[in-house]
Amino acid sequence: MKRAVVIGSGAGGLASAVLLAKRGWAVTVLEQHTRAGGFLHRFFRGGVGYDTGFHYIGSADKGQLVWRILGHLGVRDRLTVRSLDTEGFDRIRFPGLEFRVPVGVDRFAERLVSTFPHEAVGIARYIELHKAAAAAYGWYNLQLDLPVEEVLRVEGMSLRSVLNDCFQDERIRGIIAGQSALYGVPPRDAPFGVHAIVTDHFMQSAMTIEGGGDRLALELVRELRGLGGTIQFRARAERIEVQDGVAVAVHARVAGPSPGPSPGERSEGRTIRHEADLIIANAHPKHVLDLLPDGATRPAYRERVRDALPGRAHIGIYMRVRGDLSALASSNLYRFTSFSEDAIETPASPESVPFWFLTAPGMRDAAKPGQGAGGNVVLALIQGDWKQASACADDVGVPGDPARYQTPEYAEWKAALLARALEAFRADSPDWEILSAEASTPLTTWRYTGSPEGATYGHYHSVAQMGRCRLPIKVRVKNLLQVGHAVGFPGICGAMMTAYAAIGEIIGAEQLVTELKEVQ
Ligand SMILES: Cc1cc2nc3c(=O)[nH]c(=O)nc-3n(C[C@H](O)[C@H](O)[C@H](O)COP(=O)(O)OP(=O)(O)OC[C@H]3O[C@@H](n4cnc5c(N)ncnc54)[C@H](O)[C@@H]3O)c2cc1C
Repeated sequence: MKRAVVIGSGAGGLASAVLLAKRGWAVTVLEQHTRAGGFLHRFFRGGVGYDTGFHYIGSADKGQLVWRILGHLGVRDRLTVRSLDTEGFDRIRFPGLEFRVPVGVDRFAERLVSTFPHEAVGIARYIELHKAAAAAYGWYNLQLDLPVEEVLRVEGMSLRSVLNDCFQDERIRGIIAGQSALYGVPPRDAPFGVHAIVTDHFMQSAMTIEGGGDRLALELVRELRGLGGTIQFRARAERIEVQDGVAVAVHARVAGPSPGPSPGERSEGRTIRHEADLIIANAHPKHVLDLLPDGATRPAYRERVRDALPGRAHIGIYMRVRGDLSALASSNLYRFTSFSEDAIETPASPESVPFWFLTAPGMRDAAKPGQGAGGNVVLALIQGDWKQASACADDVGVPGDPARYQTPEYAEWKAALLARALEAFRADSPDWEILSAEASTPLTTWRYTGSPEGATYGHYHSVAQMGRCRLPIKVRVKNLLQVGHAVGFPGICGAMMTAYAAIGEIIGAEQLVTELKEVQ
């Protein structure tokens, strides 16, 4: 029986693990954290769940890509998936204007025309470009013979250049650019193709999962175990052993019994060598490079990965709120303080919070944890900045070691930022009674997922770093493949597509496409 080791249990890692286990491979997933899912995981306080990196899932309606993937992975029937408001799953709010994004690209176009009739010609042009860009991607369309030149073309132009070509009115540019928060790259750097594919899959359908992304991760783990695979928690890969250019084993540090809930809070531990015929790395390629021996990859590749900019980071504010939250029950809110691109660009600071994103996935659960006297769970995301956060820390050490960064300066900076953000939310929603609030910073993200500089979506998916320069799934080391949002697109769909592309290298991409097309 062939053995595979998967480093990391994010969406891409778990999807790869299940795909291999379904093929009869003996699969072991190594996860540094205590819970599966990477960005999908929920954490709990007093029995109330707080989602970290899941708010909704796109293209999960019947016949669409994620619907097929979940069916193919064998978990769809165990998930309860419900649509958000089809007339406005995302609300993009500026001073004096709120635009509700409906399901359906043509409905979106109609809504834009009715709001901005003077831009009708530009809207028709924009929608044509959007459809062409979304149609360029092979895995997204389950059509692998599409010419790669078209992907290079749509990833070579910036969202800003397309918006400037199509529109005069800064308000329509602001609305469309607003959704760039979904992949964390401001319009001047955002590849139009990335914008198109990410927004397109949510416009196909925007759904919630009962239990959040956590439920998806738990069901993938259950499926993996049912197929004979295993997952080890608090097992941090520290080295990939390479012999004659072939990856042959992963050395993982497994924490000893420890009362602490944090991934790095190890008492004594031991290192285990896992031999493998295939290693799938769901960690960021920068981290994978650290796991490999010197010289395993070409100097040019090492330089490219080391120089690659990680994506932007965020501050998460986890609140329990009493008040009128009806808009969040079935839509997400993007709140910009101005139409300027600066609102997307500028990190929040204790002085100003130019943009925030509000969502409440828990409110969409039938069980509605935290509802009632305890208020509803609301998550706000604001722009974070690794430099601001790490400047307060003595030493950021290795992921999982909070003692090394939680200095008094860090606590003070975090408290000031939280206070400023809460002030902004209260001014915007005066009826809100915020019963509790705690914040995560880029250092928290880095600690729990290992994402470099706390990057929200791993890689900075910019014009300069996509197209020909994207980080690869396949590296020079034989039997090693990389999956996850850093080598694909941000989001669950993007990360899962990398799993199919990677496992396609082993068992044949066309075979997987055929199977996906046949999913009922
Ligand atoms: C705030 C926020 C909101 C988001 N909202 C949405 C949304 O609504 N919809 C959507 O589709 N997407 C959303 N996303 C994006 C989505 O969650 C991610 O793109 C996706 O889950 C990433 O999956 P991944 O496969 O790249 O793995 P990751 O989630 O990055 O997981 C990688 C895993 O590898 C583990 N790991 C790393 N190094 C090691 C090591 N050495 N040894 C062992 N384990 C290791 C980590 O602990 C982690 O579990 C959001 C992200 C964030 C941050």
